[in-house]
Amino acid sequence: MNFPESSENKKLIERLEKSVQDGRISHAYLFEASPNTDTMAFAKAFVKGILCPAELSPDGRGENCGRCELCSKIDHDNHEDILYIAKDGNSIKDEAIIAMQEHLKVKPVMDRNVTVIFDSGSMTLRAQNRLLKTLEEPLGNAVMILFAENMENLVDTIRSRCVKYRINSGTGKSSRKASNLRAKAADIVDMSLRGEPYYKIRSLIPMGKLSNEEAIKLLDEMELVYRNIIIDNSSEEVPLYDFDRLYDGIYTVEHTKNEIRSNVSVKYALGNLILKLDR
Ligand SMILES: [Zn+2]
Repeated sequence: MNFPESSENKKLIERLEKSVQDGRISHAYLFEASPNTDTMAFAKAFVKGILCPAELSPDGRGENCGRCELCSKIDHDNHEDILYIAKDGNSIKDEAIIAMQEHLKVKPVMDRNVTVIFDSGSMTLRAQNRLLKTLEEPLGNAVMILFAENMENLVDTIRSRCVKYRINSGTGKSSRKASNLRAKAADIVDMSLRGEPYYKIRSLIPMGKLSNEEAIKLLDEMELVYRNIIIDNSSEEVPLYDFDRLYDGIYTVEHTKNEIRSNVSVKYALGNLILKLDR
């Protein structure tokens, strides 16, 4: 499949390709993607992967066809089986989901009806409830692909019915300093989950040099790292990490933020944090 930004999302793309090749296609996918992700390009690559006969044949599998009639129709947004839903003003309204239900009733020209919902987190509660009803019904071969900046904006009952993934996208406008903090946060979480010794993890953090504000930013990034691992973890057949440990990590990070906000010294608070995480 011809995905954009493939270097950053190598693992995710491999998983998607493998599941399509194995014929394990789910009814509903939820991709969490940051605002600078080209979700349309991503959606089209995935939909082609699911529908393109060349991609599915033993010879063409995994390759980017992009040449057959179906792929060309997808590129030109005129494939009958695919419905794209986007925000109308600030939100996705109930009417859009009603249209989606109508779309799903029509027999597809090819094998499947596909619906792609961009900014699904902006669905009104009413729209979400309607979508949930659809997800609860037998969907035949239909596939729903949801994108959201933050999947927490969707009701839990929708999230739990979707196969969830996260799309990484370039740091874009964010400064080098911010991406340094992000990399540090990832290292700290990773090393503490692997049970590396305290002094080794501590040496990653320039304790004396971090302002309160920077320390909070580092903690925010750590929280994001944990959240992302939780998302990845729930799409693994055998989870890599113990969920309790991950949620404990988030709790500990939150607690440390509060300490720093109430003027506990950064050095003390972060030192304590590492001790707690590195049990
Ligand atoms: Zn094709």
